[in-house]
Amino acid sequence: MTSIAFTTTIPQEYIWPTSHVPLDLNNYFITNPDPMKFIDSGERKGMPRNTCSWIKGLLGVLDDLAERISVIIAVTEGDCSNNHALINMYQYYYPHIDIIRFSYPSDKNPEKLKMELDKLGSYFGVSYDKAMHTKKILDQLRSKINKFDLLQNEKNTLSAKTVQQLLVSTTDFNGDYNLFNSQVDAHIQKLQGQQAITDKIKIGYTGVPTIYNDLFDYVENTFPIKVAYFEVEQDFSMHWLKHDLIQQYLAFQYPYDLFNRIQTINMEIERRSLKAIIHYVQSFCHRQIDAALIQKLIKVPVLLLEGDTPGPLDMRTKIRIESFMERLQDENR
Ligand code: SF4
Repeated sequence: MTSIAFTTTIPQEYIWPTSHVPLDLNNYFITNPDPMKFIDSGERKGMPRNTCSWIKGLLGVLDDLAERISVIIAVTEGDCSNNHALINMYQYYYPHIDIIRFSYPSDKNPEKLKMELDKLGSYFGVSYDKAMHTKKILDQLRSKINKFDLLQNEKNTLSAKTVQQLLVSTTDFNGDYNLFNSQVDAHIQKLQGQQAITDKIKIGYTGVPTIYNDLFDYVENTFPIKVAYFEVEQDFSMHWLKHDLIQQYLAFQYPYDLFNRIQTINMEIERRSLKAIIHYVQSFCHRQIDAALIQKLIKVPVLLLEGDTPGPLDMRTKIRIESFMERLQDENR
């Protein structure tokens, strides 16, 4: 059995019916005990130093994975402008791996999206109906993940890191959705038996997944703060549960315009009673430009953080977090 790898969230409904398993390269990169080795490898292969670390890592992880990957699905519209150059690198260093280019059409045209889905279907020999059948199976799990997320928002007993990792792993269900299902069941059962923690100030997290490995632990263990919302991670989990694949991948907000994302963030601020947002940007990422509008249009105070390489928070970022959280506590006494 080989893995079908991808560079961001894609319609995994087309992979599960094959004899292969989905593999999100981002998850492999960031959960490795030593992600820096992949960045170093990406640079040795020619990635400029002033390239986003995720992109360097997505090239570097092939050191470990090249033998077990037969195909990489690279998203060329709606994700990252660096992906075109990344594809060239994959083709040069790993000619045995097929590359499929997948696009989320920026005009949200359903017919164009259907053509993209059909492209996956024809490569993998999976019909739309078969992918829909898989969607129905995965949607049962996604609906359970929604329940888990809202229960956690009510009880606030699990660490933010646990919740963030679970949500971000829904892009490939760690290669085994039955096992993932059991893990979600266990979390739900545990949460149902716990007393809610109500004396913390709730905040949310928006922007691409952070490259810092201790951000959530630092915030929650140092201040009376609970991180109770993860914007992009929730989006990755396909929580809107639309009735068909086209609607589902049009409701997915990350690849499309910023204003729908902002509307959703403001809705979740209301629904979860969030008092502030940490908005994270990655060094050398074009999405940094969005931060200016996020700061203007979000209804609560926003702390903008930037990260570069994987690892713990640096002292300067810790000081900025500290002064923001102290002000937030003063405002919410
Ligand atoms: S953080 Fe930005 S630059 Fe880096 S991979 Fe993601 S979208 Fe691309």
